[in-house]
Amino acid sequence: MKFGGTSVADTDRILHVANIIKKKIDQNHKVAVVVSAMAGVTNDLIQKSKKISDDFPNDEYDALLSSGEQVTSTLLAGALQKLGIKARSWLGWQIPIVTEGDYKNSKIISVNSKVLNESMDQGIVPIIPGFQGLSEENRITTIGRGGSDASAVAIAKCLEADFCEIYTDVEGVYTTNPAIEPKAKKIEKISYEEMLEMATLGAKVMQSYSVQKAMINDVEIYVKSTFSNNSGTHIAAEDKISYDKVITGVAYSSDDAKVTLQGVKDKPGVASAIFKPLYENNIVVDMIVQNISADNQKTDITFTIKRDDLKKTKSVMDQLKKELEYDHLLTDDKVSKVSIVGAGMITHPGVAYKMFNALSSKKINIQVISTSEIKISVLVDEKNTKEAVQVIHDAFGLDQ
Ligand code: ASP
Ligand code: MG
Repeated sequence: MKFGGTSVADTDRILHVANIIKKKIDQNHKVAVVVSAMAGVTNDLIQKSKKISDDFPNDEYDALLSSGEQVTSTLLAGALQKLGIKARSWLGWQIPIVTEGDYKNSKIISVNSKVLNESMDQGIVPIIPGFQGLSEENRITTIGRGGSDASAVAIAKCLEADFCEIYTDVEGVYTTNPAIEPKAKKIEKISYEEMLEMATLGAKVMQSYSVQKAMINDVEIYVKSTFSNNSGTHIAAEDKISYDKVITGVAYSSDDAKVTLQGVKDKPGVASAIFKPLYENNIVVDMIVQNISADNQKTDITFTIKRDDLKKTKSVMDQLKKELEYDHLLTDDKVSKVSIVGAGMITHPGVAYKMFNALSSKKINIQVISTSEIKISVLVDEKNTKEAVQVIHDAFGLDQ
């Protein structure tokens, strides 16, 4: 059972969470618990580090940030004991949860299940702070923002748990964000692949890396609310799901920017010359489109990147101007990416048509298109995001 930041946002909520755990134990489940920091605490710690220095050391940054989860794990252990349930906190280094890679973004490589199993065998519920680990150099590490989902999946995997419950402040995964489409419905069952696309394409419920980890290890997940008793969303392997809908959900993100190189030469090596310096500068490229050149002389290349990388990308492209002799560099950061996701589209014809037709009915212009087996994404003007999501959601009957 993993509880997110809003679920443990204050001491009342921590007492409430203790009751949820008690119910599970009363039903004879063997439980290990993973917690996030109280909502806002991690951000607050980041601000404090910035006030000390713009260049706060990464190793101390991780030790600092990990403290938020330590607080909630101890408070929850105390709350359970108050209910007469034996529980104790198990910090990342005590287990240990071993990580590798850079500070701020380490990856869990192993969890020592022995101590956790022993604890559970003795009837003592282990309460494990998410997000934190221990490097091979014996330093505290953290595994990236939102990382306690990934901690929970890693622990579920190492304990060979029957399932992993992710408790949050929404009732599950929705067909789209209910804040912009009130007709959105809760998805009962979704495959890892679809959930991964949804999370990567903008659905905020679960961190995408944790979904990837669950998929690789086949850890079944239930996303559900801490604040209601309703069943949540079940995330599982595709063969356990029957598809009655062509698409499963509509996702969107508004943190992209579009870059176009107009009039690049149409000859071998040009695309490689453009994308090499992007790679060298650690810039992740998402959609890529190259036009066919009518005259075999010149063509346009468009790609999208994260908005935060736009400044860097511009300067990289400016440096290429001499070598590539392209005509113009155009950029636009007022774009958003709207995507449909669903394994059902593999076997249904006309899905792209239906999506484009819906957009055209609202006179929304499509700037860039990209597809995979189970998703279609379009780039549209940012101001059209809400309308685009709504009209597509309707067109595919997701509100039914
Ligand atoms: N507290 C960490 C964060 O806010 C980890 C988490 O909540 O999953 O990113
Ligand atoms: Mg969180």
